[in-house]
This record gives sequence, structure tokens and C-alpha cells, in this order.
Amino acid sequence: MHPRYAAKRVAFLTQHGKESLIGPLLATALGCEILRTEGYDTDLLGSFSGEVKRTDSQLKTAKRKARIGMRLSGLTIGLGSEGAFVPDPYGGLMPWNIEVLTWLDDDHGLEIVGMAQGPARSMHRSIRNEAELEDFAQAAGFPEHHLLLRPQSESDLRIQKGLSNWTALKQAFAQCLRASDNARVFAENDLRAFCNPTRQWMIRRAAEDLLKKIQSACPVCDLPGFCKVSHTPGLPCGVCRCPTPLAKAFQWQCAACAFTQVVSAIEPHADASRCNVCNP
Ligand SMILES: [Zn+2]
Ligand SMILES: [Zn+2]
Repeated sequence: MHPRYAAKRVAFLTQHGKESLIGPLLATALGCEILRTEGYDTDLLGSFSGEVKRTDSQLKTAKRKARIGMRLSGLTIGLGSEGAFVPDPYGGLMPWNIEVLTWLDDDHGLEIVGMAQGPARSMHRSIRNEAELEDFAQAAGFPEHHLLLRPQSESDLRIQKGLSNWTALKQAFAQCLRASDNARVFAENDLRAFCNPTRQWMIRRAAEDLLKKIQSACPVCDLPGFCKVSHTPGLPCGVCRCPTPLAKAFQWQCAACAFTQVVSAIEPHADASRCNVCNP
């Protein structure tokens, strides 16, 4: 139970089953009610299959969804969710999923953001025959992860979505192949939350992050949302004492009154394996 959110109603504008994914977690921990809000097609704000390109940034889109849900339901607290798929931040070769959840609270003038990121199940391949289709489907985590097929190439808009069993997949493949001018079918993971268990797991992790931040109260004004906002690198190496890229301090900030606090890292030294001098 949370002193400020027990028995409160929270609008959650979503149409891809995310309320069953994270609603119970937040409702149980905070004592609030998460209400799925309908009446707006969130795919108009951007979708993954390329019919509508998302123009706003991910965080802005998540906030916009929360705000629209609040307007439609007349509630003062809203939740918004938005995912993004990008190349991984290390080598740029792996598909990477970033999930953002925003908590807008007009009663207290608060905006709290939960986030999680990691490797994604987001593969694609141009396919010529059923054997290649089977290879790809196995690599893409099918049938637990659903697939999309389209004739010719990734720019074709004749999309077959949410394919979740082998019979449907093979039928759709045959149809796409007949409709294709270049004897190829473009296959990819369906990235909508209810079609992609890896993404579901990431959304749950973002909800856990959000919950942790909601449950963290500011030492000055006691409102929710006191959390780490940035860090200062330079934790000294345990062997040569040179500064490493690891954080030596973290800046905490209140989402309501902007009180900030600098907290030193718990460990006094970094492992030499993280030092650019000892382990270049
Ligand atoms: Zn505060
Ligand atoms: Zn060192």
C-alpha cells in the first residue's frame, strides 16, 4: 500500500494487453486500481510495422499516451507505455529494446519515469522457400514470439500480422509468395507486446523500476519519485588508483520539489578488469 495512491484510480491507455502485464504488479504494491482506458487508437502515435512512423521521442510519446488516457477517463493519474527498438549501444550489431513507462500525477504535479533495456527478439530476413522459413522461425523464437510476413520487401504494406502457429505461418507464406514480384517474402518478429514474450519481460522490468521510484519518497517534501538522475564517472581502480568509467557518485533528485543530493558509490574502488589503464 502506498499512502498517496491507495484506492486511487489510474488511467492506462493501451490496446495491446499491457494492462494484464503490469497492472497487477502496480495495483498490488500501491493499492491503486489500474483502469484500462479505451477510445483512442495508440497506433496513431506510431507502430512497429511501418504503417505509421513515430515522430515524437519515446518518452514524449509515453507521456502523451498517459495524458490522453487521463483526458478520456477524467482521472488525475495516468500511466503511459512506449517501446523502442534500436541497435545495441555497445557494438550496434544486436537488436536492442528500450521500454519506458511514465506516471503522471496531477494531484501532486509529478512525472515519474520507469525504464528498462536489453537485447530484443527482433529479427528479420528475406526468404525464398519453406525450408528458409522454418530456419528463420526457429531462430526468431517462433511460435512463442509471433511473426509478420509480407511479399517482396520490408517496405511492402500488405502485412500478415500476429502469425502464431505453423499452419497459419505456412499459409501466409504461400499467399505472400504468390503476391510477390521478386519471389521473396520478408519475415520479421512481431514486436507488439502481446506477440513478443521477450518484450513483455522488459515491460515488466520497466514497471519494477517505476514502482521502486514511486516508492522512494523525497527526504524534504515527502512526495514520491526521489531517484537517481545521473552519475559522475571516475571510481578509482583498486590496483593503479586511476579513474575508471564506473560511477564514483550518483545524483538523486526529487520529481516534485527538485531537491538534489549527491551520494557516493558504495564500493571505494573499481575492479581492475574495468580499468582502462590496467586492462586496456
Ligand atoms: Zn521533494
Ligand atoms: Zn588500474
